[in-house]
Amino acid sequence: MNCKKVDKMIPMFLNKELSGRELSDFMEHISVCPECKEELNIQFLVMEGMASLEGGDAFDLNKNLNKQLEDARRKVQMRKGFHLFVYGLEVLAIITMITIIVLVMVL
Ligand SMILES: [Zn+2]
Repeated sequence: MNCKKVDKMIPMFLNKELSGRELSDFMEHISVCPECKEELNIQFLVMEGMASLEGGDAFDLNKNLNKQLEDARRKVQMRKGFHLFVYGLEVLAIITMITIIVLVMVL
């Protein structure tokens, strides 16, 4: 197997498309040919780099989504808290009014 052929096989190897005889010839050449080993390293790094870049974007999107969900959750919580506060005031007002009415009636 010559370097040209191995070079063409590198993407196939990285995509795990090589098998049997091809794979064993490829591995054998890589183990004895520093140039092809280097080329494999470079192509692997490029592939990994792109994969992690895509993964990073996906992670950021996920993070953004989580942040958005968190903000929404906090808003809902604040709204609930506000409603509870208003409800509390209303209850307090009613109690105060009842107390005043009772006091007025008793006195
Ligand atoms: Zn070679």
